[in-house]
This record gives sequence, structure tokens and C-alpha cells, in this order.
Amino acid sequence: MSILKTRKCSYCGKEIDPGCGMLFVQRTGSVLQFCSNKCKKSQLYMKRDPKKLKWTERYERKIM
Ligand SMILES: [Zn+2]
Repeated sequence: MSILKTRKCSYCGKEIDPGCGMLFVQRTGSVLQFCSNKCKKSQLYMKRDPKKLKWTERYERKIM
């Protein structure tokens, strides 16, 4: 019996559907999981802070 663990995107924090997403192993040995190429690019190449992007689950909403 296999248990499908819920995986979350290392960047945006959204759940990754089984069979989707991509893994990226850093030189340090830590594993990053991404739900989409958009997240991968944002993290690895643009180095954008997910807390500042509205489309991520990690976006910090300011309550007025
Ligand atoms: Zn993502």
C-alpha cells in the first residue's frame, strides 16, 4: 500500500498534484519541490521573495 503524501511547493506553498511538479536538488543536498516552472524560475533565477507576490500562498496580506 502506498501512501501519497501531500507535497507542497517550496516556493508558493500550494499543494502539488501527484504526478505533477518538479524536484530540484541543490548542491547543498536540500531538495526543493515546485508546482510549476513559474515557481522554479522565480526561486532559482529571479530570486523573488514569495512573500511579496500575490499569487503565492506565502504572500503576507496586510490587514487594514
Ligand atoms: Zn508553486
